[in-house]
Amino acid sequence: MEFAAARNRMVESQLVSRGINDARVLEAMRNVARHRFVEEALVNQAYSDHPLPIGEKQTISQPYMVALMTEALELKGREKVLEIGTGSGYQTAILAELAEKIYSIERIRSLSVKARRILDQLGYLNVVLKVGDGTSGWKDEAPFEGIIVTAGSPDVPQPLVDQLPVGGRLVIPVGDRYTQSLLRIAREETGLKKTDLGGCRFVNLLGKHGWKEDS
Ligand code: SAH
Repeated sequence: MEFAAARNRMVESQLVSRGINDARVLEAMRNVARHRFVEEALVNQAYSDHPLPIGEKQTISQPYMVALMTEALELKGREKVLEIGTGSGYQTAILAELAEKIYSIERIRSLSVKARRILDQLGYLNVVLKVGDGTSGWKDEAPFEGIIVTAGSPDVPQPLVDQLPVGGRLVIPVGDRYTQSLLRIAREETGLKKTDLGGCRFVNLLGKHGWKEDS
């Protein structure tokens, strides 16, 4: 009950006030128990307006960033969605509320295992997780009407663009290792349409079509 109240406050003060207005996204943010995706010691900060550490030097994104990226995917309910960077699994759960089937790739096995456990406990049956380098996408399951990358990339990985059908949307932070621009790339009949949604700060996307792992 207390957590539900904290979520309602979060939605009003952090999301609605900053212009998130997709009713389905707001509903999902009210529904998903974000505190279940953070460490025990940080539970009282789960609904605060910032990212939090999740171990392995990674973070669960700020609620506003999760809502902004999700809204940009414009999900209606029937989509197949690919997520790169499962992390805590929180963004995955939000997507699972809003689309038909979610495929999510994480390079750090321990995070993927933890995310699986919580997603199972919360009853998300429409989520498939995989451990590996997500910068090449998930060829066997492509195309995806929505693709979301929750780590910062030096460029837009070409394989992800290739796995977007006409009408598909890709949301990805692109920039240097410390700050990025959140890009929305939509494949239209006539080509790719790129929109800059603003500045952001993500952990690095490491892999073949991201940052090199050893630098
Ligand atoms: N959406 C997650 C964000 C976690 S941080 C959440 O809110 O909890 C980004 C995650 O991307 C990290 O867990 C990191 O390990 C992962 N990552 C980085 N490069 C990756 C790659 N090439 N493939 C898959 N996952 C990657």
